[in-house]
Amino acid sequence: MTRKPALDPVAVKQAIVEYCLKKGALVAGVADLAAVERIAPAGHRPSDLMPRVKSVISIGVGGSTQAAWRVPAKALGYFGSTESRAYKIVYGLAFFIEQKFGVQAVYCPPDMDPELGARYPLQSLKLHAELAGIGARSLAGDILLHPDYGYMYFASCFTELELPADKPLAENPCPAPSCVSMFRQEGRTPCMKFCPAQCLSGDIDANGKQAAMHYDMAACAELTQQFETVPQLLRDAIATDDPEEREELLLGQRNKVLWYKMTVGNGGLFAQCFECMRVCPIATAAPLADPLKRGAVRRAAAAQKTKDDGDAS
Ligand code: SF4
Ligand code: SF4
Repeated sequence: MTRKPALDPVAVKQAIVEYCLKKGALVAGVADLAAVERIAPAGHRPSDLMPRVKSVISIGVGGSTQAAWRVPAKALGYFGSTESRAYKIVYGLAFFIEQKFGVQAVYCPPDMDPELGARYPLQSLKLHAELAGIGARSLAGDILLHPDYGYMYFASCFTELELPADKPLAENPCPAPSCVSMFRQEGRTPCMKFCPAQCLSGDIDANGKQAAMHYDMAACAELTQQFETVPQLLRDAIATDDPEEREELLLGQRNKVLWYKMTVGNGGLFAQCFECMRVCPIATAAPLADPLKRGAVRRAAAAQKTKDDGDAS
């Protein structure tokens, strides 16, 4: 039997990161598997999905364009759709790894655990991304923020390849200095103040660091996770003896939009309301947070290169 040549973990990781960036990820990293296994609850560890897993790869794709933060609230709720781009990248990555390196890899489903209901994911993509060093927990319900890219969507891929792990971010960009000032004056940061469900609260210590974060997930979910509304609405429509009320529940203007969202795909049913991120200076104004900013940096780098090439010739 011919032995497979040993793979160089550093070179393999480099090829994986390059693949992800080429496909549209802004960042990619590898989480410390032992740490993920220790922190994730039983049943939700990478080894529960892939018993011989050796590495957890996490990627982040950009959130909204700069202009998207200025659309009305009723439109902003539809803007979660870049998350599917992240899933597509890691789906392709699993094929890339098996084909190029001959080692098993699997796309990590971002979905809910069917045995536990709609609020328990199979795996915590957030934990993977945090430990891979591509986002840090914010005061806005632990939404991960990146100091350069702001607000992103995350996806994970598991593999039996052994890859060098990255470290969590050394500095958490949240709270931003302007949020600390606001908190000192009125006891709330922008995300806490403008959350329409008032489900965020917390504390900032004397050094301007997070001291406590409280997130009422149920209150947030009631407003934003509309897939939970559909069965309740059906239950009420079945229970009522009043035909007019049934008509209103099933076909009234407010609820009819739920059927529309079901036909266009699940993204519309579980987008966030995004108001906490709309007012977040990291999400909206980090140095590379949106295509306007990223484009300006790339154009400046290209112009500098052209100048340097000209000077050298
Ligand atoms: S998504 Fe909306 S309801 Fe949920 S925490 Fe953010 S602002 Fe509040
Ligand atoms: S607005 Fe953003 S940076 Fe400020 S406290 Fe909230 S999540 Fe953190």
